[in-house]
Amino acid sequence: MAEERYDVVVVGAGPAGSMAAWAAARAGCDVLILERRAEIGVPKQCAEGISANGLKHAGLKPRSEWIANEVSRALVHAPNGDRFEVPGDGYILERKLFDRWLAARAVEEGAELRLLAEARRALMEEGRVVGVEFEDETGRHEVRAEVVIAADGIESRIGRSAGLVPPLKPDELCTCAQYEMVGVDVDEDATYFFVNNEEFVGGYFWIFPKGDGRANVGLGIRGSESEPGLALKTLDRAIREHELIADLLKGARPVELNVGGVPVCGPLERTYDDGILVVGDAARQVNPLTGGGLHTSLVCGRIAGEVAAEAVSEGDPSAARLREYQERWEEEFARMFKLAGKASRVLSGMSNEELNALAEALDQEDILRLVRGEGVAKVARKVVKRKPSLLKYARHLLR
Ligand SMILES: Cc1cc2nc3c(=O)[nH]c(=O)nc-3n(C[C@H](O)[C@H](O)[C@H](O)COP(=O)(O)OP(=O)(O)OC[C@H]3O[C@@H](n4cnc5c(N)ncnc54)[C@H](O)[C@@H]3O)c2cc1C
Repeated sequence: MAEERYDVVVVGAGPAGSMAAWAAARAGCDVLILERRAEIGVPKQCAEGISANGLKHAGLKPRSEWIANEVSRALVHAPNGDRFEVPGDGYILERKLFDRWLAARAVEEGAELRLLAEARRALMEEGRVVGVEFEDETGRHEVRAEVVIAADGIESRIGRSAGLVPPLKPDELCTCAQYEMVGVDVDEDATYFFVNNEEFVGGYFWIFPKGDGRANVGLGIRGSESEPGLALKTLDRAIREHELIADLLKGARPVELNVGGVPVCGPLERTYDDGILVVGDAARQVNPLTGGGLHTSLVCGRIAGEVAAEAVSEGDPSAARLREYQERWEEEFARMFKLAGKASRVLSGMSNEELNALAEALDQEDILRLVRGEGVAKVARKVVKRKPSLLKYARHLLR
């Protein structure tokens, strides 16, 4: 077979990869997307929530074809059942349709998509990435590229083979299990979060309503506290026995089961090298507090595609040129990653009693400040005044 050559090869047609391919194709590059699945977005491994601001930031207008439900607030439950409300408009997507729509945009812009094409490793020459080896039903192939974009999710075989992505340690990820359920009778204008460091250690339980009584119902547990099968067992137990959750979900029945991992360690220190960019879950660009990676994947994907295209047009896919990708995504998200990482460490270190005390100490004005990303220090000081036992956590947060 003749050697194939593209300007940009994107590995993975998830949100990060399709955004990158779309942006690079729009800028005039010859783009190939390799996707190992037969059908994009299937199976979904996501609770499908994204904030309205996140979607807007990614430059996407909400479309009824892939929006399942709109919400206006989150209801966060402390272990003792006390709850507070976090205002904020958001959407619950239909990821199977959203991911497919996004990939279709890249294809319509001129990118070529190959399904059932599994990338095996980055091709290296003199220490730089020059392409990808992949396998499809006809055998193994090599494709060369000026820039490879590794958007290949949490495992990131390509990022690892290029030496940019280290394996995740157990405490750097949450293991998740989720049902899509029908017959869920909750307020469909809100998402539900349940925090409990004895039952959902280092993670939380969620109910994200999709409308008409459908909802994603799942949980994440810190990998270091988990073992094979524990997330699903804990999910089943909570649905059956948890005082509040069982009551909310009585009569609900599962129609789909999803399992998967979320990296919650914060982004890689370096997401570029000669001939390669790493993006999305592969680059650990996930909010460490919420486990949300859609907003960041979409925005970072777009930046990766744009920078790759500029580097191709200048004939310079060196690490020095591609560094702009890192600078641009850091400008958008570095502060959020840092603060969310600290908050995640603080919250996962608290006992249930301390979580209850924190929930009691927060008033609506504090919540609004936190939502707006303002005055974390002021809120922490107020909380400590009301609950002096939380001082060490406030210190850690503000360090
Ligand atoms: C249970 C669960 C619930 C979640 N809920 C939310 C939520 O509500 N909101 C939110 O914002 N985030 C959520 N997330 C995180 C979110 O799903 C991810 O951050 C997001 O999908 C990342 O997009 P991505 O494109 O980087 O990776 P992915 O969506 O994982 O896409 C990677 C793509 O690469 C393909 N691929 C992988 N390896 C190869 C290979 N070797 N060759 C070719 N193709 C390959 C895969 O098939 C896949 O299509 C959740 C995650 C989980 C597990």
